[in-house]
Amino acid sequence: MQAMSETEADPALLPILIAPHKTLKTKARPVVDADMDRVRVLVPRMFAAMYKAPGIGLAAPQVDVALRLAVIDLQTNEVRKPFAMINPEILRVSEDWATREEGCLSLPNQYADVSRPAAVRVRYMDLDGKRHEVEAEGLLSACLQHEIDHLDGVLFVDHLSALKRNMLLRRLAKEQKQKALA
Ligand SMILES: [Zn+2]
Repeated sequence: MQAMSETEADPALLPILIAPHKTLKTKARPVVDADMDRVRVLVPRMFAAMYKAPGIGLAAPQVDVALRLAVIDLQTNEVRKPFAMINPEILRVSEDWATREEGCLSLPNQYADVSRPAAVRVRYMDLDGKRHEVEAEGLLSACLQHEIDHLDGVLFVDHLSALKRNMLLRRLAKEQKQKALA
């Protein structure tokens, strides 16, 4: 028998929620010790879904899990450098802001310029329970803030004017409807 083609849906692949969805608007709760077995199973599946999409970050609420957990891999120069963040917190933001175009796997094909603090300092725990602090600017800074927003039920369009946000959400709804009919 022929191997399954790349284009066929992989039943093992975690589906990524598309906005609007209740979980995407929910504030996720912190991961506790009792969650760790589940988290250890979930993280590789989140990476698989993120790479497949493809994307550079994915937060647990995007796969319908309301826990404070996200995975990131900027894949700079196509080199994989994955890390998972458990209970990430923004410790400090810079006074200067930066604007860059963002997209989101939960709002496929929708992009807009988003302004955020240019640099951040973030603390998180890894899968081994080790604490890390990262100082980031540029794409990583935006990505960290974007993913941590997801844990608070905030999407990048929530940083835009109501006019722009509604335009993107309407366009997304229209495209999703067309996709469902296709
Ligand atoms: Zn996103």
